[in-house]
Amino acid sequence: MTDRCNLQCIYCYNQGYRESTDKLQELDMDTLQQLLDDAAELSVKSVVFTGGEPLLRRESIEAANYARKLGIKTTCLTNGSLLTRRAGEAAKAFDQIVVSFDSWVAEENERIRVGCQPERISTGIRDMVESGVDVTIRPVITKHNVESMAGFPEWAERELGCTSFQPAPLLTDKRGRYRPARLLAQPGELPSGETGLQAGTENLG
Ligand code: SF4
Repeated sequence: MTDRCNLQCIYCYNQGYRESTDKLQELDMDTLQQLLDDAAELSVKSVVFTGGEPLLRRESIEAANYARKLGIKTTCLTNGSLLTRRAGEAAKAFDQIVVSFDSWVAEENERIRVGCQPERISTGIRDMVESGVDVTIRPVITKHNVESMAGFPEWAERELGCTSFQPAPLLTDKRGRYRPARLLAQPGELPSGETGLQAGTENLG
């Protein structure tokens, strides 16, 4: 939906674009509706709205509402920072919300996802869960959060009521050029055995 973003995550491969003010790069509502009409005609079942940070644009909510009217399932992939502000609308517009939230330890989250306010994101997730939205927490595993990862699913269920947990690896950009090796967790550092991490990922089916 947009390259713009209100955070500055240390592994972001969108760094050159996230502060762009060139809205001409963003699809307008008419075009979005046309795309969704085409998708429905092609029997597309599900669409993911992402960015940048998709909730920076009101059109993400409008387009998701439009998609749902066409019978398309909607997912929002978000950094979670605007969920509290858009709680009511987002709960109605999206079937699923996937929140990039890297650690239950606030200092780790702040160090990785620079500019985030972990408490605020937690409140947004709680609001969504209480509204009955299917929420998945999707941390990106780096060397900065790998040690605390095992305790994350249990914390998320206890503190946020969220039982869906889907850790993601640190990826390269589309052209395979940007790979911040200094941030990668080494295989030996990943939790093993009967950990909360495994339990959490198994919940996802
Ligand atoms: S939330 Fe996504 S787009 Fe925004 S800074 Fe982080 S990685 Fe980049």
